Amino acid sequence: DQALYVVATPIGNLADMVPRAVEVLQCADLVAAEDTRHSQRLFSHFDIDTPLVAYHDHSDEERTNRILQRLEQGQTVALISDAGTPLISDPGYRLVREARARGIRVVPVPGACAFVAALSAAGLPSDRFTFEGFLPAKAGARARALEQLAAEERTMVFYEAPHRVADTLDAMADAFGSDREAVIARELTKAFETFHLAPLAELAAWVRADSNQQRGEIVLMVRGAEKRKADELDSESERVMALLLDELP
Ligand code: SAM
Repeated sequence: DQALYVVATPIGNLADMVPRAVEVLQCADLVAAEDTRHSQRLFSHFDIDTPLVAYHDHSDEERTNRILQRLEQGQTVALISDAGTPLISDPGYRLVREARARGIRVVPVPGACAFVAALSAAGLPSDRFTFEGFLPAKAGARARALEQLAAEERTMVFYEAPHRVADTLDAMADAFGSDREAVIARELTKAFETFHLAPLAELAAWVRADSNQQRGEIVLMVRGAEKRKADELDSESERVMALLLDELP
């Protein structure tokens, strides 16, 4: 039946593919994929022979419209990305938005997502967190982005490219302080899966000392800033109150 299925695929370990995802991809009329060649490997592994078309958020309007037309004709389309959950630092937003605007049913098929896997096993507070995706690539813009997060009290989660991870950890130590606790989660669900928790400056040095830690796919997580203590806040408001009272006639 007519629907756009947003289907998660594994982030490394093919055994993480959920049965419903296989079924939906097999039964769909069309699969929109970030990189059709990449997805072909997933398809052969699971005996899926549904036609694939390329889709990115910068795909031209005509391509997006062709996919939407198929949906409007009553066909079923599935959206996948190279790995993990579509729309999470991956294409799909425009298609989902447009499909919903046209009254088309959009159905998630949940599965692997790198930041959820990372956070679930890191040992940092996970009751509240903020997902920051990729930081800007240029040093200046990255430093400004981190500066704006310096007072964030929730655990912060970032995706980072391997060739930038050491510089990013240094920049994080500058912005958040050397002692702020952080975790690198690398190659999740794969043979060289690694978690390492340490204060930022130590973590940066550890990553720099071993080039293996600068390879593969990486999630960085940083503990939030210490909450300002309640009595600290109280004395601050008392001080402000006293100043204000002094000004009263
Ligand atoms: N949509 C994906 C998801 O659900 O997580 C994320 C896509 S994003 C383009 C790719 C980034 O996700 C990588 O650069 C890395 O930061 C993170 N990532 C993906 N797979 C990973 C893995 N197996 N281990 C660690 N990080 C991973």
